[in-house]
Amino acid sequence: MINTYGKVINNAQIKNYTTYKLDGKIKKVIVPDNLDNLIKLLKYLKQNKIKHKVIGNGSNLIFLKDYDGIIIKLDNFKDIIIEDNIVTVGSGYNLVRLALKTAKLGLSGLEFASGIPGTIGGAIYMNAGAYKKSMSDIVKEITVLDNKFEIKKIKAKDLNFSYRHSLLKEKNYICLSATLKLENKNPEEILDLIKERKERRKQTQPLNYPSAGSVFRNPKDDFAGRLIEELGLKGFKVGDAMISKKHANFIINTGNANGQDIKKLIKIIQRKVKKEYNIELILEQEYVE
Ligand code: FAD
Repeated sequence: MINTYGKVINNAQIKNYTTYKLDGKIKKVIVPDNLDNLIKLLKYLKQNKIKHKVIGNGSNLIFLKDYDGIIIKLDNFKDIIIEDNIVTVGSGYNLVRLALKTAKLGLSGLEFASGIPGTIGGAIYMNAGAYKKSMSDIVKEITVLDNKFEIKKIKAKDLNFSYRHSLLKEKNYICLSATLKLENKNPEEILDLIKERKERRKQTQPLNYPSAGSVFRNPKDDFAGRLIEELGLKGFKVGDAMISKKHANFIINTGNANGQDIKKLIKIIQRKVKKEYNIELILEQEYVE
């Protein structure tokens, strides 16, 4: 039954679906062929009370153990329509690819996202951002599947965007596509800025190791990385999970780390930062069980 909704990968490796490349297995990954089949699949999973989760590129996720359910990937939701400076794009579209595509067309607005290896859906879910810009600056409206499997359009003003937060985190809606409003600019200027930022990321972030970007949100008027570095924790390890020597707000997988190693490291950091500075570091990444 379940096999008729799209491509099915049984007994999948977590490392193939996440940027942390953690050890472990996923019972089934399903890539629905189209919207109709996505809805049928979700109805089937709900009726049969089968655990499931929609993910994007898994670039913000920490799988804590084997996932005994269905991971749904929206790889077939990648349509794109560009009319003047308005871009409507499927939620499975890669953010970095979109930033480069729009830059070449002389459309500015996604420069901040050119180093964020997520999908449109995942980026809207957590209002991904960098360089004081975020998805909330460019999203006009999104199309979602609500909890009754109805298709709804939601305007940006109703998406409750704030720092790394959106309505998608409050409701269990699935983002199907987004309409973004960009601005006309010289393509070379946009591409130069992207190149400069790529260089900066390469110099400051451990991009040659698997990670999921910043581990903690920055506390008000401070940087999580600065606090962790001051505690001398760079290079500290639990199993194969290590606090990066290059950027203290990154945990990297130096070999065969699993989710429990990462979680232990996170708890140690939170405890030490709380003790030394009385600051509660809030996790930006998400545990999946
Ligand atoms: P996933 O990690 O797959 O999922 C994240 C959450 O979104 C999950 O709860 C999932 O259920 C939900 N979700 C995914 N798709 C949908 C959908 N279609 N509908 C509803 N919910 C959905 N983040 C930043 O904000 N700024 C940065 O500068 C940044 N730099 C990074 C650098 C590196 C090297 C790495 C590895 C990560 C970085 N990140 C950064 C983190 C990450 O890339 C972003 O959080 C990204 O938005 C996650 O997107 P994703 O598609 O991978 O989502």
